[in-house]
Amino acid sequence: LQEVLNRAVELTIPRLAEKNMQFHVDVERDVIVAGDFNRLIQIFTNLITNAITYSPENTTITLRIQKNDQYGIVEVEDQGIGIEKNEIARVFERFYRVDKARSRNSGGTGLGLAIVKHIVEAHHGKIQVESTVGIGTCMKVLIPLRKNVN
Ligand code: ATP
Ligand code: MG
Repeated sequence: LQEVLNRAVELTIPRLAEKNMQFHVDVERDVIVAGDFNRLIQIFTNLITNAITYSPENTTITLRIQKNDQYGIVEVEDQGIGIEKNEIARVFERFYRVDKARSRNSGGTGLGLAIVKHIVEAHHGKIQVESTVGIGTCMKVLIPLRKNVN
């Protein structure tokens, strides 16, 4: 997962820098999951791009890697605008964008999280959202650990 996240960070750093934002990284090493490298990169590139897009300048995005007995776990936590409780489930629908985002001309299509959810499910994983309006959002992705084959 560390290699996946490194690549997603590389791809999103230019946008992060434009908004004077920073990454804070807290990584447990050697968390190895069963997955498609490029698809996993796509998940975190999308989540980090959202975290940047829906946050004010000069804020921090925290990236965490950890594991439990079954899953490798990655969290992308921002200090952004947040998502209303009743919208949280809907953001994974294709083309769904929360009003504020729509009116703010951020140019997205509303497909990012639908794709993320699809890739997570193809990996037999889970995605969980915690969000508070005006405080921020944490997207937590769980991907099954690679089983030892010996
Ligand atoms: P794109 O297809 O370019 O990703 P998008 O970012 O609008 O467009 P999604 O990534 O699917 O689409 O996100 C759907 C909506 O969920 C966003 O328009 C935004 O309203 C909301 N959203 C997603 N991530 C966050 C976040 N980290 N903080 C606040 N709102 C978010
Ligand atoms: Mg998006």
